[in-house]
Amino acid sequence: MDILDSIVIGAGQAGLSASYHLRRLGVRHVVLDGDDAPGGAWQHRWDALTMRDVHRVAELPGDEPPAHTTERANQVIPAYFAAYEREHDLPVIRPVRVDRVTEEDGILAVHAGDRVWRSRTLVNATGTWTQPFIPHYPGMETFVGEQLHTVDYPGPEHFRGQRVLVVGGGASAVQFLGALAPITDTLWVTRREPVWRTDDFTPEAGAAAVALVEQRVARGLAPQSVVSVTGLALRAQEQEAARLGAYDARREMFQRIEPDGVRWADGSSEPVDAILWATGFRPAIGHLAPLHLRSELGGIQLDRNGRGTTAVKDPRIQLVGYGPSASTIGANRAGRTAARGVRQYLVQHPAPVT
Ligand code: FAD
Repeated sequence: MDILDSIVIGAGQAGLSASYHLRRLGVRHVVLDGDDAPGGAWQHRWDALTMRDVHRVAELPGDEPPAHTTERANQVIPAYFAAYEREHDLPVIRPVRVDRVTEEDGILAVHAGDRVWRSRTLVNATGTWTQPFIPHYPGMETFVGEQLHTVDYPGPEHFRGQRVLVVGGGASAVQFLGALAPITDTLWVTRREPVWRTDDFTPEAGAAAVALVEQRVARGLAPQSVVSVTGLALRAQEQEAARLGAYDARREMFQRIEPDGVRWADGSSEPVDAILWATGFRPAIGHLAPLHLRSELGGIQLDRNGRGTTAVKDPRIQLVGYGPSASTIGANRAGRTAARGVRQYLVQHPAPVT
C-alpha cells in the first residue's frame, strides 16, 4: 500500500494551515477530517454567536481575515474555510473519523473503521470540540431538569422563563449569562475567580496568556485553554446582564445535585430548572493513545520548551491547535512550524530505496 509522507488529522484552522504549508514545502500528504463539511468546530457553534462575539479570528495563511460583522460565526467561518480549501486545492478527505493511530514496522497506520492510511509522519489537528468536559457530581443522574454542555447550547430562547444554573468561569459562561439574564432567572457558580478585563485585549496580554500554557506543555502537564487565561470582557449585552446581577457568582462549587436543584456543603440549596455546563473541553487525542505519547503528568510534552509542535516522545508526530496553539492565530503559526518539523524529519530520515 502507498505510504504517504504525512497525514494531517483534522481540517480546522490548525489542520488547514498545516496542509497549506506542507503543500508549499512539497510534502505529499492528505488531510482526514471527521466532519461532513468544511468549517472545523466553528460549524457546530451556537447560532447566537456572531463574528462580533468572537474575540478575533485570524486569517488563514496567505489569505484575508474573515469579516468582523454581526453575521453568524457558524456560517461565515465554514464558508471561509470551504473557499480556502478549494482555492488552495488542499487534499481534504471527509468524512473520515480517525479512531486510532498505530505503528506497523516503523510506519504510522491511521485507522478509520476498516479504512487505513499509512504515513511516515503525522500532524494531529483535532481540536477539542469533540471532547466536552463535564465534572461529575453526586446525584447528577437524579436531576429532573435539563443538563446541557456548551456543545449543546440551543440559544437563550430555549430557556425563557426558567431558572438556569450556569457552571464555569470562562468566556462561554460569561456570554451565556449575558444572553440569558434578560429572559431567565440565572444563577452562576464558578470555582475560578473571574478575571475581568476592562482594557482592549493587547498583544502583550495575549503573549503572556500563551506563555502560561507553554510552561505547562513544556513540563508535560495537560494544557489549559488559552482562551481561559486571557481574561473576560464585558460587552454591551453583558454590561446589562451585570446590572441585573448575573455576575454575582457563588465561588464555591455545590456538593451534590438533587432532583430539583443543587446543594452546598453548608446545607444551603438552590432550586433550578436547567443546568448549563460551560465547563470546557479536553484535547481530542484519544486516537493517539496506542503511540504512548503522554507523559506521566498527563499531557503530551512538546519541544522548544512548549513553543514547538513536535512530540518529545516521537519526532514523527506534530501537534497543532494543542495547548498554546489552541487559538486561531496560534493554530496558524503552529501549522507552519509543524510543516517545517515534518520536512526536517523526512530530510533526516529518508525513505529506504526499494
Ligand atoms: P477545530 O476547529 O476544532 O477543528 C478540528 C477538526 O478536527 C474538526 O474539523 C474535526 O472534525 C476534526 N476531528 C476531530 N477529531 C477527529 C478525528 N478523530 N478524526 C478526524 N477528524 C477529527 N480562538 C480565537 O483565536 N479567537 C476567537 O475569537 C475564538 N473564539 C472562540 C469561541 C468559542 C466559543 C470557542 C469554543 C473557541 C474559540 N476560539 C477562538 C478557539 C478557536 O476556535 C480554536 O482554538 C481554533 O479554531 C483552532 O481550531 P483547531 O483547528 O485546532 O480545531
